[in-house]
Amino acid sequence: MARYTGPSCRLCRRENMELFLKGERCFTDKCAIKRRNYAPGQHGQARVKVSPYGIQLREKQKVRRIYGILEKQFRDYFEKADRMKGVTGENLLFILERRLDNVVYRMGFASSRVQARMFVRQGHFTVNGRRVDIPSFQVKLDDVIALREKSRSVSAILEALEAVVRRGIPQWLELDKDAFCGKVKSLVTREDITTPIQEQLIVELYSK
Ligand code: SF4
Repeated sequence: MARYTGPSCRLCRRENMELFLKGERCFTDKCAIKRRNYAPGQHGQARVKVSPYGIQLREKQKVRRIYGILEKQFRDYFEKADRMKGVTGENLLFILERRLDNVVYRMGFASSRVQARMFVRQGHFTVNGRRVDIPSFQVKLDDVIALREKSRSVSAILEALEAVVRRGIPQWLELDKDAFCGKVKSLVTREDITTPIQEQLIVELYSK
């Protein structure tokens, strides 16, 4: 299945919540959820009774869309999470959070995950001094993520860094804005993920 290239705001309206897919626009009155808080399409405002399966499916789609993951890779992540020790649903979220594109976004080098993925692919970042251009790269404890010297004048990255104050940085990461680098200072915990996600519904969906 190809990556979704349609309007991002439509995805938020489908999930009936802000997924923060468009960077700064998401914090303005132009946000589509603030203006049209109903599902897209002809029957978007119709009352529909959703089945338990539908609820589980929507939760999975929501998480997939937040992190911008295709179905096949998301399923692979789930299977990996299932093989790990601990709670499968939480493991799944930890894997997603530790993706390099997510960490770049969380640290404030990009205004959205879509933009972070693009910056990573363009080779703007190093991990522990080595250039990494794979968005799905999994960061580890004590890894240092840095903006490359030659990328320190990219205006979109500088603008994102200026705006990060509004969003804040999760406590498992730290950012040294002046040095253009950040560090994974602890392992991500469930409490660090503040987006309303019911991961148990995804486990139930995939366990059928
Ligand atoms: Fe979602 Fe952002 Fe669009 Fe609002 S502006 S609907 S949060 S993508």
